Amino acid sequence: MDVPVKYCKTCNIWRPPRCYHCRVCDNCVDTLDHHCVWINNCVGRRNYRYFFTFVSTATIASLLLAGATLGQVIAYHNQRHITLAEAINKNRVPFAVFIYSLLGFMYPLSLWVYHLLLTGKGETTREYLASRRFPPAERHRPFTQGNFIKNWIAVLARPKPPTYLRFKKQYEEGDQRFGPRRGQRQTKLDGEAQNGGMEMKPVQGAQSAFEGPTGRISKKEAR
Ligand SMILES: [Zn+2]
Ligand SMILES: [Zn+2]
Repeated sequence: MDVPVKYCKTCNIWRPPRCYHCRVCDNCVDTLDHHCVWINNCVGRRNYRYFFTFVSTATIASLLLAGATLGQVIAYHNQRHITLAEAINKNRVPFAVFIYSLLGFMYPLSLWVYHLLLTGKGETTREYLASRRFPPAERHRPFTQGNFIKNWIAVLARPKPPTYLRFKKQYEEGDQRFGPRRGQRQTKLDGEAQNGGMEMKPVQGAQSAFEGPTGRISKKEAR
């Protein structure tokens, strides 16, 4: 199947498949899952497993909290030979935390199950939400490995690729990180809104053959 490759005018790169530009981070993110408002960061190729670990351990931690607080009330009830209502009355704080942990358990659990199903199918959150516009028969998953086990291994045990961003690289003139479009996010957003946030550039007939990061070409080569 065709996988469209788009050019990002802000980052000056051709986006690889599954790569999208995050408006909040103002950067292209490889295998973007979603921009998480809770961790205030994008969840993508290099940090998905940490996000998944976070959601899993949050679920387990809230279960542990529920078990420990309810256990405290029941143990008190058994040891003092009093009714359960009296035991709760004597342990109001643990019981309140028990109710709190039950409420707090729902969100990490649903998120955990959701991501287990998504990764099992070989999809990202973004791909799943985009595919919902199509009827089930037309939803293609080109990146699936075939079954749930293989997909989980592929996502959670894949090697972590090196970062594309070189924060500590020395500044050169025309550096992409400080390029002319940097800091002009508002005007860029206005422009994006006009063409629906999509930017397609024809490969053939383009002015120059190389359309990669301009920061990589030194001034001498550009001339
Ligand atoms: Zn971008
Ligand atoms: Zn982001």
